[in-house]
Amino acid sequence: MDCVFCKIAKKEIPAKIVYEDNNVLAFEDIEPKTKVHILLIPKKHISSTADLKPEDKELIGDIFLSAVKIAREKGISETGFRIVINHGKDAGQTINHLHFHLLGGEKLPFA
Ligand code: 5GP
Ligand code: ZN
Repeated sequence: MDCVFCKIAKKEIPAKIVYEDNNVLAFEDIEPKTKVHILLIPKKHISSTADLKPEDKELIGDIFLSAVKIAREKGISETGFRIVINHGKDAGQTINHLHFHLLGGEKLPFA
């Protein structure tokens, strides 16, 4: 499948990886929108939130907790951060492999 995030998960294309376990990969966004901008993905391909299945519950929890852990490690727990998932074109989803954005390190615009 021609999916850039699957290729990153398989280490076929490089990324600045900040966290990895059996099911989750976190890496720096190639075009950071904020001082800290990390993407977290499931290693298995899930196109979007619409394709989540009940058996993915634990995986999603793991990704979320990994984001919080990375926020702590990056020193933005105290100052604040945002975890975002874009779904579909109105939200600006450009990569069709589910990903969580961890954004912080500066005052973030709008809620
Ligand atoms: P979306 O707009 O789909 O929510 O977010 C996709 C994000 O992936 C964007 O912030 C974009 O900068 C990032 N991105 C796109 N291609 C690559 C890539 O090849 N490597 C990395 N590290 N980030 C990417
Ligand atoms: Zn994929």
